Amino acid sequence: MNARAGRLEIRELVKHYGGDGPAAVAGIDLTIDPGEFITLLGPSGSGKTTTLNMIAGFVPPTSGSILLGGTDLTGLQPHKRGFGMVFQNYALFPHMSVFDNVAYPLRQRGKSKAEIRKLVLDIVERFGLAGLERRRPAQLSGGQQQRVALARALVFSPPVLLLDEPLGALDRKLRAQLQLELKKLHQEVGLTFVFVTHDQDEAMYLSDRIAVFDEGRIDGMGRPAELYDDPGTLFVANFLGEANTFAGRFADPRTYAWNDEKWRTGEGDHPAEAVLVVRPERTRVFAPGEVPPGWNSVGAIVTDVSRLGPTSRIDLAFPDGRAGAAVLPSTDAVQVRVGDDVRAAWDLPSQAFVTP
Ligand code: ADP
Ligand code: MG
Repeated sequence: MNARAGRLEIRELVKHYGGDGPAAVAGIDLTIDPGEFITLLGPSGSGKTTTLNMIAGFVPPTSGSILLGGTDLTGLQPHKRGFGMVFQNYALFPHMSVFDNVAYPLRQRGKSKAEIRKLVLDIVERFGLAGLERRRPAQLSGGQQQRVALARALVFSPPVLLLDEPLGALDRKLRAQLQLELKKLHQEVGLTFVFVTHDQDEAMYLSDRIAVFDEGRIDGMGRPAELYDDPGTLFVANFLGEANTFAGRFADPRTYAWNDEKWRTGEGDHPAEAVLVVRPERTRVFAPGEVPPGWNSVGAIVTDVSRLGPTSRIDLAFPDGRAGAAVLPSTDAVQVRVGDDVRAAWDLPSQAFVTP
């Protein structure tokens, strides 16, 4: 299970399905290192599946190219690319046993009977399916079916595994369990994983890097924590989680003005047209006059207080009428009451500027 992958390069990839609609994929550039776990994250219709299907070879690109280890794959049939593929709906052969489903790609590749038997039994064991070899897919749970699909995708040692929302059909608990298994599997086999999801938590949990898709383009790219803290665009900021956002302007390079507030900006360059964003869990709530020196703050009315356990969520209304939130340790939230006139505050490392 550890064929060596080269670097996967996606260059200026475009897909027009025809008609006069916008391109489904409007120019994607992506370089994926061998062994990387990369996630294509974005809302429904943003072009993730189309991109993955072009990598797999199921959808011919309108233009652009796909290279693996420097070799151009763009015109090759899917089976010649040799990528493993897992879909949301399992796509198992319903009339075949687990054994035959997993053996299928090996038979296609003309492996000997003895080799097939060894490889299938090894991987069936690896995925916790030992003893189920004779069952048909309909006789398995959803989680077991998805493990069969994974085993089938990996049994022929592909250099790259492509996964399109593979956990989307599973319930929450099973999904969490399979996320953990996928993460461990990736660490063990060291293959390149290209994973598609619309679930930002799943993406953050699994990925080395995330590419955030919006309308057929990559709007942001980076390691999960980097992208979360410094999202670059308002779309990425909002898609990766909740954010308090303030669309003001720079009064001078070190001062950002919004409504009646003037805020300090950190060192470094900021985009000329910028929106200030702060995550709720980095927003604190103080009585007026008690904001720590050096912090930025904004007046707010508390509209709701919810105890979530160790943390509490304070819903806020800012002076422009827009809603925001602070998520605090519950011990810091005991004084806060609905209707309080407060200052929502943050220190400079907690703020980021993004393009609108
Ligand atoms: P995602 O996987 O991010 O939800 P898709 O790649 O499936 O997005 O779809 C991107 C866009 O391309 C959507 O507008 C979708 O309607 C369109 N699209 C997808 N597949 C086809 C197809 N086979 N024919 C025509 N349009 C398609
Ligand atoms: Mg899709």
